[in-house]
Amino acid sequence: MPIIAITPCKKPRDYDAAVRRAGATPKPLSLDDPAATALDGVDGLLLTGGDDVDPAIYGEPPHPTYDVSEPGRDAFEIDLVRRALDADLPVLAICRGLQVLNVAMGGTLIQHLPDISDRDEHREGVLHEVDLKPGSKVADAIGTNRPMCSSFHHQAIDRLAAGLVEAGWADDGTIEAVEVEGASWIIAVQWHPEDTAADDPSQQALFDALVRRSRS
Ligand code: MN
Repeated sequence: MPIIAITPCKKPRDYDAAVRRAGATPKPLSLDDPAATALDGVDGLLLTGGDDVDPAIYGEPPHPTYDVSEPGRDAFEIDLVRRALDADLPVLAICRGLQVLNVAMGGTLIQHLPDISDRDEHREGVLHEVDLKPGSKVADAIGTNRPMCSSFHHQAIDRLAAGLVEAGWADDGTIEAVEVEGASWIIAVQWHPEDTAADDPSQQALFDALVRRSRS
């Protein structure tokens, strides 16, 4: 059975369940693991949701909402992203995971979406549709170009990192999905597929695709 490494987060349960339904064994990572060996024997990587990336890493002063809640997580996950890129390991990055991927590759973030007055649909408990680029890996995995997504986030991609391509957008223009150019299967979504995957096969399909790619 493939082994999917899952980065440490405050609510691991739904990610674990989605990976198990996809037919893989979750390997929960710890911030105490050395990043150099955390991916040994692993077939795929799931970057989970969480709190904000330190804006100092992309050279911007912190928004008042920024707080260090999980010391060491930024450095650990950025290190893992670089190793996964080097190894062309299949990766599904979710919410904060998308933001970590963008920052690790040199991009920047909008630090507080509610400061942009017409972007108000990304709140907890609100679902919104996402327009996926036809033919993108994420659209192929999901099987539809306009999925309904549980999308709770107060940050989003500002400057897209070189090497990432946009693959999905909310109706207000917020980037909701990206893919690593030239990678076999490294995709990232701004929404939370684990929230609805138990009841929505199109969202579970993202985890299924990660596991399928990890087997090939
Ligand atoms: Mn959203």
